[in-house]
Amino acid sequence: MKRIGVLTSGGDAPGMNAAIRAVVRKAIYEGLEVVGIFHGYQGLIDGNMEVLNLGSVGDIIQRGGTKLYSARCPEFRTEEGQQKAIEQLKANGIEGLVIIGGDGSYRGSMTLTKNGFPCVGIPGTIDNDIPGTDYTLGFDTALNTVIDCIDKIRDTATSHDRTFIVEVMGRDAGDLALWAGLAGGAETIIIPEVKMNMEEVVERLKSGTSRGKKHSIIIVAEGVMSGSEFAAKLMEHANIETRVSVLGHIQRGGSPTGRDRVLASMFGARAVEVLIAGSGGRAVGIQNHQVIDYDMNEAFEKSEVFDQNMYQLSKELSI
Ligand code: ADP
Repeated sequence: MKRIGVLTSGGDAPGMNAAIRAVVRKAIYEGLEVVGIFHGYQGLIDGNMEVLNLGSVGDIIQRGGTKLYSARCPEFRTEEGQQKAIEQLKANGIEGLVIIGGDGSYRGSMTLTKNGFPCVGIPGTIDNDIPGTDYTLGFDTALNTVIDCIDKIRDTATSHDRTFIVEVMGRDAGDLALWAGLAGGAETIIIPEVKMNMEEVVERLKSGTSRGKKHSIIIVAEGVMSGSEFAAKLMEHANIETRVSVLGHIQRGGSPTGRDRVLASMFGARAVEVLIAGSGGRAVGIQNHQVIDYDMNEAFEKSEVFDQNMYQLSKELSI
């Protein structure tokens, strides 16, 4: 293999730039050429790409977002779109690709692998929802962003004896809400993996108030319902007044934490090694503190076990 491509696709996540840097530097170190493809699969279809050198990825390890830009590309879901992408790969002499994104981006890459262009995936999403890896790139940064917000909300909640609902990202996965709730000392955490019990929520709020708690923080993952819907339910159910904070896209931005930068560096390097070894259809990840690579199909098996113990702990510590 002489020339590889790298692209970022789907929802962006802090640490994607650090991963791009690692892919480019490791590949050049190993004697390969690297082409950066802009705007995900759309850029691949359009031939929007350029050769990256050591300097191209300077001064980005600390930056949020992605220097290569990201996009969702409906055209790439069609056979015509995929054919155009394959033509571009051929025309530009790209023999393998590193795809940094979520499971949708992984799925797209499988079509290229099947057509003789081996792809390796790097999990980049703040949701931490990719099976096969304990952590995804961006999760730690987003977690720290949410914790910082909760801490600030807690200050004003205490001053006014208020109950706050904080809506965090997470459509199908509650990891961000759960971890942030545990680390932020939230009274209640509402996540997609656990059926909501309004009686219990109200009970917990009341028992906290009766023992003199000055404030309550409820974390709601957006996949369950919006913060304002939850506020309306609490009002309807128990006449409890709340304030709502929707953290929104703040969670997707910001300088990556040290942990995400280290993870990005290790993931990027491993992805290049896998391509050099001639393998495609694989994803990199971390399991029990070891960087690994595994069959990408495993990332599509939505069998990820939910951390029931952590959920239980969050309840026990917030009585
Ligand atoms: P994420 O990678 O964050 O999960 P998406 O699910 O939006 O984000 O996927 C990103 C892009 O990957 C899509 O816009 C599309 O171009 C491509 N993609 C997703 N699923 C498929 C699929 N089944 N076949 C081909 N391409 C896909």
